[in-house]
Amino acid sequence: MSGQTDTQRKEPERRKHSQRPAKQSLYLSIISHARADAVSSRFHSADFTQTRYGYVAARLKLMCLFFAIMVPVFALFDFLTLPSEQAQFLLKARIALSASLFLLVYVLHRQVSVAVIRIIITLTFLVPTVFYLSSMQSFSITPDAGVPLFFSMMPYLIMAMLGLFPLTVSGGLFLAGVIIIPVALFEANRFNGDYYALFNTLWLLSLFAGISLWLQTGQLLMLLKLYRESTVDPLTELINRRVLLRQASQEQKKSAEDLQPFSVMMFDLDRFKRINDYHGHAVGDQVLVTVARIMKQELRNTDIIARFGGEEFVAVLPGVSLGEATQVAQRVADSIRNKAIPLNDGESLYVTSSIGVTQYKTGEDIELTLKRVDDLLYQAKASGRDKVVDDQNMMHATGQLIAEKVAEVA
Ligand code: GH3
Ligand code: MG
Ligand code: MG
Repeated sequence: MSGQTDTQRKEPERRKHSQRPAKQSLYLSIISHARADAVSSRFHSADFTQTRYGYVAARLKLMCLFFAIMVPVFALFDFLTLPSEQAQFLLKARIALSASLFLLVYVLHRQVSVAVIRIIITLTFLVPTVFYLSSMQSFSITPDAGVPLFFSMMPYLIMAMLGLFPLTVSGGLFLAGVIIIPVALFEANRFNGDYYALFNTLWLLSLFAGISLWLQTGQLLMLLKLYRESTVDPLTELINRRVLLRQASQEQKKSAEDLQPFSVMMFDLDRFKRINDYHGHAVGDQVLVTVARIMKQELRNTDIIARFGGEEFVAVLPGVSLGEATQVAQRVADSIRNKAIPLNDGESLYVTSSIGVTQYKTGEDIELTLKRVDDLLYQAKASGRDKVVDDQNMMHATGQLIAEKVAEVA
């Protein structure tokens, strides 16, 4: 990647606006994507998926722990109400279920990936279903033991539990299948010609599945709305500082694992206060939107771009070394400088930017990288604005920079 030329970087991997076109308002984009967002996680950002599965893992842990403790405790009722042979069989099944749930809690307790949480949620619903089927099997072996209501209701309770999780429709249907399919196979296997009973079971299970789906998608869309409101800047539709810091720390971890470099750029618009003062805040806002759009166009889809502060933007470029990042920064600076922003009176407004560029140094804290890039940006401002300054530039041009800085102060 780092061997590519500037033009190769720009063309095939221009930011595709795949998530939402820049012109569309945030509100409209939420409405238009709401359905797709509810159906599958294909359009969810990696950061949202991570956040969502964080919630899922926390709930799973609590749920598994609760049932891991309660399931053996309820053996007392088995011994009080059922023949002892039956209660003893159920005790073994209960201990097996409880041990499996404790194991899932143990796995969840460690830092686990989204893929592992997906497997665990599947097991969390499959294991009690298997427990239900084996206990029903034992009831059919000892028919004199009437089936207590708790056991016959179990698949419906398990299905209802699905409603506790913010899942997509496809995720919810998959998990509903994990419960319904084994139950349907079991019922088909012991089918005695009673179509009405079979229909009743499957219909009621599907009804519970439908209600759970409704609850799940409601939670998912609510989570998505709150997530977007707290992570996306409504003016520029870029992510905010908080998400950038989170994603940059992830880049830091990735870089430590695969030894890939990554670079960080910090942009600040020059004399922006004057634009607000001369042309008004609305024009200032329009400039910010235009600059954000240019950055989206010029950077790759995989680059992370954030509105860091008022008229300050930060971009993290995964897999990109310093030299290449500086070229990219210059290209963005050129596009910003050459962009005519139309004013109401028919005139056009032009803005320039100052940019600091640095490469992450393996092992360092990301805060330190940001501090360094901030210092470089300051150097760009001090050396007369409309400049790109990187670590190497600074080394080459320190004397000149200091001379210019002194001249400016004087
Ligand atoms: P410099 O070249 O040194 O960066 O000068 P500057 O005027 O750009 O720097 P300064 O930090 O003094 O001013 C930044 C201005 O950005 C001040 C603030 O009013 C403006 N600003 C911050 N957020 C917004 C916003 O959301 N919309 C608009 N229109 N202006 C904003
Ligand atoms: Mg500024
Ligand atoms: Mg500023």
